[in-house]
Amino acid sequence: MTSLGSFDPYLEPWLTARVPRLADYSSQLAEFHDWVRTEVEAQANYTDRYAPPALETYDRNGEVVNRIVANRWYDEQHCELYRRGIIGLPYAENAPHLLTFTMGYILSQADISLHCPVTLTGAVAYVLGSHAPESLRQRFLYDVVRMDGLAKTGGTWATEQHGGSDIGATTTVATPTEPPAAMSDAHGIGRCFFLSGLKWFTSNANSGLAIATARPDGAPDGSAGLGLYLVPSHLEDGQPNHSRIRRLKDKLGTKGLPTGEIELLGAVAFEIAPPPDGFKLMMEALEYSRVHNAVGSVGVQRRALGEALAWAKSRRAFGHVLADYPMVQDELLRMRVDFEAGALLAFEAAITFDEVQRDAERRTWLRLSTALVKYLTAEYAIAASRAALELIGGNGYTSDYPAARLLRDAQVLTVWEGPANIQALELLRLLSPRYRGWEQYESRLQRIRDGIPSALGNLGDALQSRMQGDGNAVAITLRDEQSAQRLARKLLHRLSQSLAFALLCEAASAAMINGDPLPAHSAWRYFEEIEPPAFGAEDDAARLGVLELLQEDSMLSAKNR
Ligand SMILES: Cc1cc2nc3c(=O)[nH]c(=O)nc-3n(C[C@H](O)[C@H](O)[C@H](O)COP(=O)(O)OP(=O)(O)OC[C@H]3O[C@@H](n4cnc5c(N)ncnc54)[C@H](O)[C@@H]3O)c2cc1C
Repeated sequence: MTSLGSFDPYLEPWLTARVPRLADYSSQLAEFHDWVRTEVEAQANYTDRYAPPALETYDRNGEVVNRIVANRWYDEQHCELYRRGIIGLPYAENAPHLLTFTMGYILSQADISLHCPVTLTGAVAYVLGSHAPESLRQRFLYDVVRMDGLAKTGGTWATEQHGGSDIGATTTVATPTEPPAAMSDAHGIGRCFFLSGLKWFTSNANSGLAIATARPDGAPDGSAGLGLYLVPSHLEDGQPNHSRIRRLKDKLGTKGLPTGEIELLGAVAFEIAPPPDGFKLMMEALEYSRVHNAVGSVGVQRRALGEALAWAKSRRAFGHVLADYPMVQDELLRMRVDFEAGALLAFEAAITFDEVQRDAERRTWLRLSTALVKYLTAEYAIAASRAALELIGGNGYTSDYPAARLLRDAQVLTVWEGPANIQALELLRLLSPRYRGWEQYESRLQRIRDGIPSALGNLGDALQSRMQGDGNAVAITLRDEQSAQRLARKLLHRLSQSLAFALLCEAASAAMINGDPLPAHSAWRYFEEIEPPAFGAEDDAARLGVLELLQEDSMLSAKNR
């Protein structure tokens, strides 16, 4: 495969215009893209079909080994990712976290099962780098950010058998103890605990360093009683820590990813944050993971669109290629427009994540946009892979083509890192007087509205009316607790679509100023999707405009195969 010289001709110019520093990594990203689309793609397919990981419980002498055996290809690529700096570059070179998110977007086009551990490792690195006591940072951060092929990978352990959303009900107990001799305070390791309990979902279950929520003896009930702890897989003397993987989950998708149940049997752990800050910090780690979830979802959309386009351009039925049929074109058009919407959403949150590192005032916008973005991009990833599968037809339903795996894998994107209702509850929280999220939302959209050039007056009017509708919807939702609990998910849906439309207007405005009228068609087409006109009354110019964009896409994806 020849390199295009860009990891993504659509996204790269837009991203580097917003964050010029990303351009420093342009050739690295293009090369990463080539590696993913060839090597990682082949591994992902092989692992999914023939060689998923397995749990080895005992060795031949009957001794407990409790180890996960992945195929060598998966293991090698897992190491290679960290060697390429997917987590390390923001630490070694002060690169923006956007670089990691962009690599996650590329990676998920081939393999969510590899992207997930990257997310977890990044979350552990972020917590250690930004919030852990100095002693822990000194001791452990390098382990997860090193780029010599020896990096440890991460885990985040919150979900228990009673549920993953209600983390405040955590039953894992933290009992204070003396640090083991080899890790004594003299080495500056801080406060040490034994953790006991059962973590019901632990992805990348063979991680070297995990963060876990637990309740210290005597701490109050609820989230205020939770601490956050760092759990190494092995102790300083090389012995395994005191935990046991009970079994690996038998899942619908992400077959290459070992997701286990881990029993903590007095596991040695180091305090990152005591109550009441443990829960807050785990939520912050989750913010990071949710942004990854969003860029990963958009990666799936990108891949599904590419597969659907390539098929439609080459498959013939009734004497014509599929792409000549208007119904097929409409489906492709929807996929393309939703991809643009998803990409702008996901990277709005990714860029804001870096802004928060410099300006804590941006945190409310990060949380609010992340809730909207995590929700809608996951829905789009499933819709796109389902659409690709249907377009490819019977072949698409088989494992000979990637659409089937894409669809199976994509289903998890709505579940992990918090399902839609949980994002809706987060939205309600952020709209409360404490956070005043509505002001941030409104001002972001108003700034976009103000920047729309007069030549795109129809988009400006449409955005204005959408914003008025948003204001009404918020008022109705928040009028009492009952309405809030019932309407929050609908509100989440509405605001996430409005934000996507606004971002499409912003991209269209910038393009128009640079003499490119086509993105305005995407924005209008998206508006027609979220506010459908009368039956059959869609704007034909917008349709033809997006078809032209699709034509460019199919030429690019042909080169890319
Ligand atoms: C493949 C996979 C890997 C995972 N890996 C990890 C991992 O590494 N670490 C980890 O900690 N977790 C992990 N999880 C768990 C995941 O984060 C949880 O499944 C998720 O948070 C939802 O929790 P739950 O499944 O317990 O569902 P529940 O919390 O029981 O929720 C079930 C449903 O009820 C809804 N709901 C819950 N409360 C409310 C409410 N108040 N109002 C309205 N609706 C509500 C939810 O939206 C959801 O749809 C993984 C899950 C999967 C599938």
